[in-house]
Amino acid sequence: MADFDGQVAVITGGARGIGAEIARKMAAGGAHVVCADVLDTTEIVAEIKAAGGFAEGRPMDVTDATAAADAIRAIHSDHGRLDILVNNAGITRDQLLVRMKPEDWDLVLRINLDGAFKVTQPTAKIMMRQKSGRIVNIASVVGLMGNAGQTNYSASKAGLIGFTKSLARELGPRNVTVNAVAPGYIQTAMTDALTDDQRAALMKTVAIPRLGTPGDVADAVTFLAGPKASYITGVVINVSGGLYI
Ligand code: NAD
Repeated sequence: MADFDGQVAVITGGARGIGAEIARKMAAGGAHVVCADVLDTTEIVAEIKAAGGFAEGRPMDVTDATAAADAIRAIHSDHGRLDILVNNAGITRDQLLVRMKPEDWDLVLRINLDGAFKVTQPTAKIMMRQKSGRIVNIASVVGLMGNAGQTNYSASKAGLIGFTKSLARELGPRNVTVNAVAPGYIQTAMTDALTDDQRAALMKTVAIPRLGTPGDVADAVTFLAGPKASYITGVVINVSGGLYI
């Protein structure tokens, strides 16, 4: 029996990048995956179905608390269960603090941190009643180590780590685990823009000198969401090739 047979997993930002790879791996493990995104999810859903998996797309803007709660309740009522939530939706708006536009500070915090609160609250109510569930938050190593030009992003990801640890303490008694994965430099749309020189400079800062893949991150997420991690809660798994040790 596959790890996620019969389970329902919601992945925010599941249309592409790391979120889509998490969806592929969970679907391959037997889950019915719900890719919730502001972007069109037709492609990833079709790909998973073509591979014999179960998937659906849900339009969701994680900054809209009412719409997010309605979507979570609808998913639960359609399937009768909700086993896994991956808070993966996230953006960057990089700039040095002294030049940062207040709206770029606000937007990054609103999507990366407030968005996780808005989707997790209705989900936690369902998982508490169900007396089971797994929540995995996609943070970043810059939430642990900082990065010049990313005060907004690193504050959002450090906030997400504090959220993870506190919620783990609240939900543990109901058999719901809450963990975080902190990726380093991963090969996605976020890092495609790097020049060869920037890439070479970055590689000098990483113990394992390559960019990570979405699969490297998705493996850590599926582990935390799977049956072998039932006694693990409140942790941050750093998937950064040793960028942060
Ligand atoms: P990506 O831009 O490819 O994917 C992010 C997804 O989030 C997109 O599908 C986007 O539409 C969605 N999204 C954005 N705003 C949303 C909103 N308001 N509501 C719902 N969905 C929304 O980026 P990615 O690299 O796959 O990043 C995924 C996660 O991993 C993010 O949280 C990011 O911060 C984190 N991360 C990425 C890296 C990296 O190097 N790529 C490193 C560390 C952490």
